[in-house]
Amino acid sequence: MDIFQYHQINAPQRLLMGPGPINADPRVLRAMATQLIGQYDPYMTDYMNEVMALYRDLFKTKNYWTILINGTSRAGIESILISTIHPGDKVLVLVFGRFGHLLCEIARRCKAEVYTIVVPWGEIVIPDKVEDAIKKIKPKLLLTVHGDTSTTMLQPLQEIGDVCEQYNVLFYTDATASIGGNILETDKWKLDAVSAGMQKCLGGPSGTSPITLSSKIEKVIRKRSCVESGIRTQEHKDGCNEIIYSNYFDLSMIMDYWGPQRLNHHTEATTALYGSRECARIILQDGLNKNISRHKKHGRAMLAGIQAMGLEIFGNINYKMNNILGVVIPLSINGNQVRKIMLEDFSIEIGTSFGALDGKIWRIGTMGYNARKDCVMQTLCALDSVLNYLGYRTVQGASLQAAWDYYEKHNND
Ligand SMILES: *Cc1c(COP(=O)(O)O)cnc(C)c1O
Repeated sequence: MDIFQYHQINAPQRLLMGPGPINADPRVLRAMATQLIGQYDPYMTDYMNEVMALYRDLFKTKNYWTILINGTSRAGIESILISTIHPGDKVLVLVFGRFGHLLCEIARRCKAEVYTIVVPWGEIVIPDKVEDAIKKIKPKLLLTVHGDTSTTMLQPLQEIGDVCEQYNVLFYTDATASIGGNILETDKWKLDAVSAGMQKCLGGPSGTSPITLSSKIEKVIRKRSCVESGIRTQEHKDGCNEIIYSNYFDLSMIMDYWGPQRLNHHTEATTALYGSRECARIILQDGLNKNISRHKKHGRAMLAGIQAMGLEIFGNINYKMNNILGVVIPLSINGNQVRKIMLEDFSIEIGTSFGALDGKIWRIGTMGYNARKDCVMQTLCALDSVLNYLGYRTVQGASLQAAWDYYEKHNND
């Protein structure tokens, strides 16, 4: 091995306009370049408390237990499911895209009895169907994705929250793709647990999963935890009935680490915490509603520009997320060739999709730091040029004009 073949990391400057990750806000990268401190340094524990307060505002909740899980978004999902589900528990999952299948898969690993409501990709689940299923199945937990980047759909949750409350079902959602760019109301929608990730509308790098837990689900989780290590308090052993199969994702232990007791668990990922704190600070100083409007504005401008190229939009447009667009690839065009030329000649990345949609749609994101006019205009300009280069004819200038028109009309949004 010749060590001098390994050069200093010098990744190209890309404009990431796919379904995530996106370019991190430079302020977040700067925060992450801050030197480490010890995990019980008062500065560190203060930062942890600040993170809890900041993320309560982002989740729109009063939940005390609003903390970070170290790991990508699915670390948050796994921690909640592993810590809540008892083997044999009935779980109802709404499946309207790839990440619904992920929830099923993780719930099955937790040995839940998994029931599903499945709808075609590009649609959402009608709340009436959920009530019927809950009456029949009587699940302990209802799991759903909020915004699924695989299909771009945003599942309405308010009515489902009412139904879950009425039938005493714990209600969880994966808001990784939606938080910060779409309305999410943890308390108003009666969500018991929500998990998220940094690399979509929050404008940070993946590797941290903020979660929030209601006091109702906390009680369920505390009953699941039973560790005979001597550092657990008697209170937690009482009423315990089954050990949680993960130490790393045992939320009971993670709560004791984040809470006033500060019982040692893992070494909090300090650098990731600096980044997550900065992401939340930036959004909240600007105003959460303003941040959501920004995603809507630039998402709609992108939509107008794409439609002006004569391209068809995938899925039910009434339920589309603000921050991502599914674009049907014209039959005469090789979608991967377009993505390759976009990347090589313009340094712009757009996404493909999964499963049945692979090669059928592109996914174009306008999220986080990249929910900006210049990013939208550059992406439209490049895509329009590449399509014409490959023989798909558009009206010259129509796409950019449609976006400009949209911006002019919505200047103050
Ligand atoms: C993008 C996305 C994720 C990402 O999960 P990672 O573990 O961070 O890769 C999870 N859930 C949804 C709904 C997403 O859109």
